[in-house]
Order: sequence, then C-alpha cells, then structure tokens
Amino acid sequence: MAFPLSWDFQQLWGRGMGLAQGWLEGAQQCPSPNCNDRPEGEQISLLVIHNISLPPGEFGGANVRDFFCNSLDCDAHPYFDQLRDMRVSAHLLIDRHGQPTQFVSFADRAWHAGQSCFDGRDDCNDYSIGIELEGTDDEAYTDAQYHRLAQVTRILMMEYPAISRQRIVGHSELSPGRKTDPGAAFDWAQYRKLIRGVEPGT
Ligand SMILES: [Zn+2]
Repeated sequence: MAFPLSWDFQQLWGRGMGLAQGWLEGAQQCPSPNCNDRPEGEQISLLVIHNISLPPGEFGGANVRDFFCNSLDCDAHPYFDQLRDMRVSAHLLIDRHGQPTQFVSFADRAWHAGQSCFDGRDDCNDYSIGIELEGTDDEAYTDAQYHRLAQVTRILMMEYPAISRQRIVGHSELSPGRKTDPGAAFDWAQYRKLIRGVEPGT
C-alpha cells in the first residue's frame, strides 16, 4: 500500500524548501562556532524541541542569534550576566513569525541539550537535532511557529528516518529537574496532528 504525501508536504517541496548539505534552504544562515563533529558513524535519531527568549519573555530582536554566535553584549541587560561564559547553540531557531534561522548544519553536533539522557543513552547532542522556538514555557506559541516546526520536522524525518514520531521530545524529557522547556504552553497534540502521515500508519 502506498502512503501518499500530504498536501502540505507537496506544497513545501513545491516551494523548493529542502536540505542542502545539512542546511535548510530558505532559512537565514547564521553559522555558530559552538558545534563540533558528531561521533564517527553516529546516526541522527532524535529531535529535541526547546524554547528560548532573551531576556525571557521578550521577543524579537537579535539577542538569541547573537547569544548562539558568542556576540551577545552581556552588559546590555542584567539577565545576560549569567550567560557571559556560556557557549551553546541549536541547529535552528524559529521566531514568533515562523521565520527559521539556522546556526549549525544538521549533520554536525550542536550544543543544545547539555547534560541529558534519552532511552538509556547519555549526551543527546551526539545523536540529536535541536530546534528552539522563540518563547517561554507558559506563553502560547504562534500558529506560524507550529506550522514551520511541522514543515521542518517533515523534512528532517525524510532525511533522517531514525527520527520516528516516538523520538521527538521536549528538552524537559531529556534533562528532568534541570530543564522545563518547551513547557506547558507547547501543544503536543496540535504539533503531532501537523506531522501525521509522515510515517506509514501514523
Ligand atoms: Zn532547552
């Protein structure tokens, strides 16, 4: 039995959005130095959803992008002081308007999960992709963000088939007690509905 691609998926390919060398076509590129090679032969098999906003709850502007590229002015806001020596990144950030910015090739190892464990395996950065939604744990995400996240998820699931629906998780699930994102505001049901049909039988 054939499983037809959804209308949404055909539309997105119709717009030419895809991957080139691990970079999302159509996304703004802002390469971060905070990355390294994945372990040799490692299979990409997990997608991690995060949130971030700097300072927390303030949206727009370039602070997150600057933070991931080590160019944030840490004197510009009292909250930023604690970020001074942090070297982190994510593969992709989706802002409140659904616009994606990519910092690290999906083929490479971004520094997004920190101390983490999934299904008995530590150091999730080795085998995962990290996507940040601009937001907070308790403020509703925008429809534009859900649609963009779903669109990107579909592309990634096609490219990296080991990312099954069961292997798409929130950061809080990998680092319980330490991380809470993407928080109660993230509507998993809405998101999962949008990626239905990528895998046979779903
Ligand atoms: Zn996180």
